[in-house]
Amino acid sequence: MGNTKKGLNTICTHVGEIVDEQFKGAISPLYMSSSYAFEDVDVKRYPRYFNTPNQEGLAKKIAALEHAESALIFGSGMAAVSTSLMAFLHAGDHIVLQQTLYGGTYNLVTEEFDKYGISYSFTEGWKPEDFEAKIQGNTKVIYIETPSNPLLTITDLDAIGKITKRHGIVSMIDNTFASPVNQNPIDFGIDVVIHSATKYMGGHSDICAGAVAASEEHMEQIFQLAKNFGGSLSDYTVWLLERSIKTMGLRVKAQNANAQRMAEYLYNNEDIEAVYYPGLPSHPEHELAKSQMRGFGGMLSFELKETYDAKQFRKSLQLIKSSMSLAGVESTLISPADTSHALMSAEVRAEQGIKDGLIRFSVGIEESEDLIADIEQALQKVRRQVVTTTE
Ligand code: PLP
Repeated sequence: MGNTKKGLNTICTHVGEIVDEQFKGAISPLYMSSSYAFEDVDVKRYPRYFNTPNQEGLAKKIAALEHAESALIFGSGMAAVSTSLMAFLHAGDHIVLQQTLYGGTYNLVTEEFDKYGISYSFTEGWKPEDFEAKIQGNTKVIYIETPSNPLLTITDLDAIGKITKRHGIVSMIDNTFASPVNQNPIDFGIDVVIHSATKYMGGHSDICAGAVAASEEHMEQIFQLAKNFGGSLSDYTVWLLERSIKTMGLRVKAQNANAQRMAEYLYNNEDIEAVYYPGLPSHPEHELAKSQMRGFGGMLSFELKETYDAKQFRKSLQLIKSSMSLAGVESTLISPADTSHALMSAEVRAEQGIKDGLIRFSVGIEESEDLIADIEQALQKVRRQVVTTTE
């Protein structure tokens, strides 16, 4: 099925499926071949050319989900990020990147770009004027992340789309936190949409993958580099990812609802110093989030009262796992200072507002009452420890 006008869950379930002509099975067959005929064929297929049957099928589904003309699937989110960036940047070019950004993308830029003669500027905030202020004559790309990792800041998609069009710059977004269920940046004029498919697309904490969606023209430019960089995904994992995306709409909507409930519970809890969630009216960009997102996502961050031991809190949880990565059906949390943003210096983290005690919470699909009960019992233990140590 190739119709992109269908509704979300129909696209998730059917677009790009491979019809099993031979046995009439209901799901896409898996083609593991890494060797295809080259004579008397229209397309020369090879896994690293991103054109095996399963890769092509899944790319159609992801393009439809992102309202894009075309898509490619990668071996990781960072393969998707690095290939997309390098496809549009050459020696002598400049890029403007949002200040609040996934730590791995920050590392890629700060550790690698000098070697290629590419200069970069990080914004001092995430307002449209913060991006415009950093544009130079040789700026070729503006790169944003909204909601951002880990503080859930919201960037104005429409404004960035307009600024980049006006300056003839390519706009790119990491849309991982929102997922295509909650946000379609292409509808707001953003050119290239990138995902760590390890997260909501995979959704079960068992796949590492990436995806990029854009116009045919931009995807052709990305493909020309992708086949040389070689970051394609194995067909078995492509097939698993296709299966996972069938339930993405259902999962993410359940995670949206659970995260909203958890954010409200934490916000009204006197043991909690701060909550960062775009679905809360107290979030500074709540209205902006409402205007460009269909749901506020399953990610939130919070800070315990300063006297509380965040590590002990994490260790006291029984249901919610302290575990890396995010977006699985199981609730997990991390300390960004110890994981996703550990390679940043303490000064850069402080500049970005990432405190050592910050906890990033990936809300799963469990019953919200059980999640709240788990947090309650962990808070009780931490509270007791404060009392005994001050006695
Ligand atoms: N973008 C965001 C927002 C992420 O959270 C991550 C990983 O945590 C990535 C990109 C990188 O993805 P991957 O780990 O699949 O390479």
